[in-house]
Amino acid sequence: MSGHAAPPGAITSWSNWAGNQRASGAALRPSRVDTVVEAVRAARAAGRRIKPVGSGHSFTAIARPEDQWMDLTALAGPVTVDPGRRLVTVPAGMSLRALNDLLATHRLALANLGDIDAQTIAGAISTGTHGTGAGFGCLSTFVTGLTLVTGTGELLRCSAEEHPDVFAAARVGLGALGVIVEVTLRCVDAFVLRAEERPAPLAGVLAELPELIAGNDHFEFYWFPYTDRTQVKINNRVADDDRPLPRFRAWLDDDFLANSVFGGACRLGRAAPTLVPAISAVAARALGARTYTARSDRVFCTPRRVRFQEMEYALPRAALPEALAGLRRVIGELPFRVLFPVEVRFTAPDDIWLSHGHGRESAYVAIHQYVGMPAEPYFRAFEQVATELGGRPHWGKLHYRDAASLRPGYPRFADFLAVRDRLDPDRVFGNAHTERVLGG
Ligand SMILES: Cc1cc2nc3c(=O)[nH]c(=O)nc-3n(C[C@H](O)[C@H](O)[C@H](O)COP(=O)(O)OP(=O)(O)OC[C@H]3O[C@@H](n4cnc5c(N)ncnc54)[C@H](O)[C@@H]3O)c2cc1C
Repeated sequence: MSGHAAPPGAITSWSNWAGNQRASGAALRPSRVDTVVEAVRAARAAGRRIKPVGSGHSFTAIARPEDQWMDLTALAGPVTVDPGRRLVTVPAGMSLRALNDLLATHRLALANLGDIDAQTIAGAISTGTHGTGAGFGCLSTFVTGLTLVTGTGELLRCSAEEHPDVFAAARVGLGALGVIVEVTLRCVDAFVLRAEERPAPLAGVLAELPELIAGNDHFEFYWFPYTDRTQVKINNRVADDDRPLPRFRAWLDDDFLANSVFGGACRLGRAAPTLVPAISAVAARALGARTYTARSDRVFCTPRRVRFQEMEYALPRAALPEALAGLRRVIGELPFRVLFPVEVRFTAPDDIWLSHGHGRESAYVAIHQYVGMPAEPYFRAFEQVATELGGRPHWGKLHYRDAASLRPGYPRFADFLAVRDRLDPDRVFGNAHTERVLGG
């Protein structure tokens, strides 16, 4: 997210990480919860709106402010760690990176993470951010309680016991129910992961999928378009003294190859699209097998410096082969080339009303396109395939669905809207995007 330091309420510019969402508005940077309450009450009284923003890592306009925007990263608050119960309570604007470091000092960790740690905690949970692993739901499933300032300016704490309906809605709340100011998360004892990465043919991966998913803590793969190749990534918990990958090699693989060389390949492909299938084949071959071991969050999360746009669909797991066959067809028929591999991940079912994983085992298919390359026809064509298979779009990643088309996919959609009507009757937290995906 970008925004220049300015006095509270001054008009400043905002843009997301990918640069495809931009706005300007009055910036609010509260450092205390009572300032949040006052700002929300004042906005409601004046018929104005406030969009709580995180680190701007959503590709959709879900965090796009249309009036005032509230950055919660300076919000102070007590940090409480209960090592016995493995619970941590933190201000909601804290980044995942800071949370991971904090937990490590207490020999705790989050049980699972996505690909990066730059997001704020509130931002990550609000869109259902997830990692991979058949035994794990999205990050919101680790939340045991949260406090939010509702659209009527009320400070409300919710958990499975207190306001359970708000809890079921607000853990993936799309920034539409209130300003989350504090989050309590269930952690696990700190752990070390051994990562194993290796190339594998797509047909072989699909044939062995049930064993690969069930037999590993965290399994995922990348498919390289125009090829039959994948790169498989497997992370399993191991003893603390497992041998780490030498530092230079880790940097070479993660940062240099994944960002610098890949960025160069993307620029080349954008300039000379006919080379893309060859580049994809070379990329698939360049990534060899490697094994390394490190602190869990350092294995889960890696820096992403090559900018892209992304769509991701959560599908019923059994639909994955059909979805990939449809995707291959879509890519083959596009009038332009696709420069990014397709990421496939797996999650457990959960009971959060608007979680992509609500009530079912999911396979997530994430498609990307390098900045400056056409994306929309690609994304729309895959969206049609995914929608027909019962797919649910990631709330933070590009999609073109509206409330009418999303509602049948979420059995508790109407319950979510009822909570929203109660918590934010005047739509202080609304914008054009939430109007589209939730209705007015
Ligand atoms: C490079 C990259 C890698 C990514 N990797 C993954 C991944 O591995 N897995 C995955 O699932 N997603 C991934 N994402 C998507 C990302 O995790 C989500 O879009 C996430 O919501 C971004 O968090 P944020 O802090 O940037 O929030 P923003 O994008 O700024 O906001 C997201 C939503 O949260 C709301 N919000 C923010 N703060 C508050 C608050 N205090 N109270 C109430 N609402 C609030 C906003 O209003 C908005 O609705 C990735 C994105 C990028 C750019």
